Amino acid sequence: MATDDKRPQGATDSFDVIVIGGGPAGYPCAIRAAQNKLSVACIDEWKNKDGTPAFGGTCLNAGCIPSKALLESTELYHRLQEEFATHGIKVSGTQLDLAQMQKRKAGVVRAMTQGIVALFKGAGVTGLQGHGRLLPGRRVEFTAHDGTRRTLSARHVVLASGSAPIELKSAPFKDPYIVDSWGALDFDTVPKRLGVIGAGVIGLELGSAWRRLGSEVTVLEALPDFLPFTDEQLSREALRQFKKQGLNIRLGARVSGAEVKDNAVEVRYSDAAGEQRLSVDRLVVAIGRRPYTKDLLAPGTGVQLDERGFIKVDESCRTGVENIWAIGDCVRGPMLAHKGKEEGVMVADLIAGHYGEMNYKVIPSVIYTAPEIAWVGLTEQEVKASGRPYKTGTFPFLASGRARAMEQTSGFAKIVAARDDDEILGVHIIGPLAGELIAEAVLAMEYSASSEDLQRTIHAHPTLAEAVHEAALSVDKRSIDSINR
Ligand SMILES: Cc1cc2nc3c(=O)[nH]c(=O)nc-3n(C[C@H](O)[C@H](O)[C@H](O)COP(=O)(O)OP(=O)(O)OC[C@H]3O[C@@H](n4cnc5c(N)ncnc54)[C@H](O)[C@@H]3O)c2cc1C
Repeated sequence: MATDDKRPQGATDSFDVIVIGGGPAGYPCAIRAAQNKLSVACIDEWKNKDGTPAFGGTCLNAGCIPSKALLESTELYHRLQEEFATHGIKVSGTQLDLAQMQKRKAGVVRAMTQGIVALFKGAGVTGLQGHGRLLPGRRVEFTAHDGTRRTLSARHVVLASGSAPIELKSAPFKDPYIVDSWGALDFDTVPKRLGVIGAGVIGLELGSAWRRLGSEVTVLEALPDFLPFTDEQLSREALRQFKKQGLNIRLGARVSGAEVKDNAVEVRYSDAAGEQRLSVDRLVVAIGRRPYTKDLLAPGTGVQLDERGFIKVDESCRTGVENIWAIGDCVRGPMLAHKGKEEGVMVADLIAGHYGEMNYKVIPSVIYTAPEIAWVGLTEQEVKASGRPYKTGTFPFLASGRARAMEQTSGFAKIVAARDDDEILGVHIIGPLAGELIAEAVLAMEYSASSEDLQRTIHAHPTLAEAVHEAALSVDKRSIDSINR
């Protein structure tokens, strides 16, 4: 990426807005600010494993995009082996070419990250690759990758420095045996036995991907409940599906140690039955992520971190220091790319004096396993705990003509609505393309729709979206294509 960083040391450049971090929170913020006719620089220090710098942050380089590319390829491989014969397609001589699979994944990532360079160029954003550090007085020290340093100034600075994987003290990373999610996306052989610590979104996606290629996967989860943040009906069905697929999920399993011995990892953990041992060829630690703010703030900026290391902000992402904002994974809220993106857009609009607001109650979540799992709003147990009278409707994909045609009938769509005014409070889907289907629910909730609004909305037939329609009908026991209970 062309940058201006060859200017003499000490030169000062000024911008309306400087964004530190070019991930899915920072780069959309920079683009929207430029669309708002502001002069913008976006500083990003990401370097890939081969040393090449790239915009896009964790999401494009080591998270959302490579994981979805790998999940797509592995699901195709799995379906080819398990499902094609049912469709009357006989295939023989199937072979896995993992090197090609990884090459395709790398190509997808490259296309997306290079896309940001083109987007910056199109919008007029100055992309600067290197480290950014906020100095007092809305100045930013920029150190390019070649070590050249200069001080920039801005009317507004947006901090979007993202997050990093949490390391487990009892199982420290030891490449290539004990790795984080990035390492687990890059295996060059299929581990015969794979251990995953953490049955969260990332652990389940990675475990599923390698299971489909033949790994024996054991997932160790310290919590006693499976996916405790999801609707209970949804988590029960998900656990049933994953077990059926051969994922060995052990709940209440606390890891106390992991050592590399003779080309394998010996894991020690305890569960209700006492001390246990597990031997695997590769171990993935996917226990969550922490905000990343290393060398981001010089002394005296006034920007504060909370006790967990997140940059403190209000609901509009203001840090409390005039014209300094923070967005994305480095601030409170779910660590999701689309949450960061919307915060970035909101901040860029607010800076330009336009309207900008985030609706934190309506942020969708998706787990890209097969079947996919997606939800938005409140779970049934949350509504119950709130004391508000409610009603629910569910529709099984087994009764969907499209799902049957696709040979993907697992799961259901569920809607939780208020009993008093019928407002939709939460939607929970496990099934084919749940991540796409949830968009309708998000839109409905954004407009405070009632279940009747969805009931009276015509859905094309035969589509998977009819499951959401029928779940809405089922809220008032008016489902046509399933028995109302
Ligand atoms: C395996 C995996 C799969 C995931 N899948 C999904 C998914 O499907 N959907 C989803 O919504 N989310 C997913 N996530 C989460 C998602 O990646 C994050 O929520 C998202 O990347 C956060 O965006 P961000 O811009 O806040 O931070 P990041 O993406 O972490 O970007 C921050 C950028 O700032 C740079 N930076 C940091 N400090 C400085 C500095 N001082 N100077 C210059 N640059 C700096 C970093 O190098 C980085 O490039 C996944 C994460 C992982 C690990």
